[in-house]
Amino acid sequence: MALPLVLTAADLSHDRDFARALDAEDELAPWRAHFALPSRREHDIYFVGNSLGPMPHTARAMVNEELDDWSRLGVAGHMGSRRPWFSYHEQLRGPLARLVGAREEEVVAMNSLTANLHLLLTTFYRPSGKRTKLLIERGAFPSDTYAVRSHVSARGLCADTEVIEIAPRAGEWTIRDEDLDARIAQLGETLALAVLPGVQYRTGQAFDVARLTRVVHAVGAHCGWDLAHAAGNLALSLHDSGADFAVWCSYKYLNAGPGAVACAFVHERHLGDATLQRHAGWWGNDPKTRFKMEERFVPAHHADAWSLSNPPILSLAPLVASLAEFDGAQITRLRAKSVRMTALLEFLLRGTPDLEILTPTASHARGAQLSLLFAKNARSRFEAFLEAGLVCDYREPGIVRLAPAPLFNTFEEVWRAAAIVREACRSC
Ligand SMILES: *Cc1c(COP(=O)(O)O)cnc(C)c1O
Repeated sequence: MALPLVLTAADLSHDRDFARALDAEDELAPWRAHFALPSRREHDIYFVGNSLGPMPHTARAMVNEELDDWSRLGVAGHMGSRRPWFSYHEQLRGPLARLVGAREEEVVAMNSLTANLHLLLTTFYRPSGKRTKLLIERGAFPSDTYAVRSHVSARGLCADTEVIEIAPRAGEWTIRDEDLDARIAQLGETLALAVLPGVQYRTGQAFDVARLTRVVHAVGAHCGWDLAHAAGNLALSLHDSGADFAVWCSYKYLNAGPGAVACAFVHERHLGDATLQRHAGWWGNDPKTRFKMEERFVPAHHADAWSLSNPPILSLAPLVASLAEFDGAQITRLRAKSVRMTALLEFLLRGTPDLEILTPTASHARGAQLSLLFAKNARSRFEAFLEAGLVCDYREPGIVRLAPAPLFNTFEEVWRAAAIVREACRSC
């Protein structure tokens, strides 16, 4: 059965055997066995990889390798371990660049998402003259809002007037492109920086990184992206998009473990620019002179120039393991499977009483996640889903998020998840 990439209702079926047949022809099906799927009961459906991805089995061996080398070698491990700690982070450049469509010198794994956002706001939010405004969505992930407001205050400006929030229209959940365009155009030469989400965490709405970056650049502002819910989910082309910077965490779709080391992208055109403001640290210094321990900072010609410290090897090890899975599976194949899985889930849920799907229907406007809004009893329905083995999460006000992840979920799980939702909606 050859399915087209963009599915319409005519291509889909309510039949469980239809889902099984999609699994049978799925070339990514072998990847499921590479992960430890959390299961309180035997057939739990893990649809929260958008919140905390499951552990790749190889992560354990990767961490143990570093513990062994540390115990055997001590300080000599910096140069003499199997994967020398001095350059350990460099092995992530290739897989990260392939994952997000960047050049190897544009990506770095370091810190946490919010810490990286702060580091890049220091560089790319440079209010001066009339150009002082910072655009973000209303209802952005709170950490992002806190971070941008704190930067505006730290420059001696008023966050209430300088942070501009764009919101969906009254009665709507997702932001319209034309409203974003109009707001950016209206801000014009007062806009210093826009910080936008690749995929909105609550609604699952995906934004067009390249198009919006162009719109922001057209008024002379910088454009940065929070890709927490987009990395490992969408097939991104960060370099070609022209985005100034991006940050993302790696514990969601990237499966690198709780509090995993996060990532950042800085566009090539900004690399090696010693005039940029930044919070400098020795690990951002040009590696050729790093150990000369000189007094003046010389930025590496690399996104590494924003890193501060020698990285936490034990925490990077699971990221090495998980990115190897993405390299094998390939993000374009994952995205193609994901588009089909989400389309099938939406098709099977359509028409369920009291249920509204907030996530856009067009595949280019969403990733893996569907956000379900229940008119009533949202909390008790969510609990009924968990009870029936559908592991998902709940966000106020009454939203249940389901995220079938193409790396390890199956089409039959999509079918079973939809059956659980429909059944729970009949009975409570
Ligand atoms: C998950 C998430 C975060 C989390 O921030 P941490 O610094 O990793 O704790 C921030 N922003 C967005 C949009 C997220 O989805």
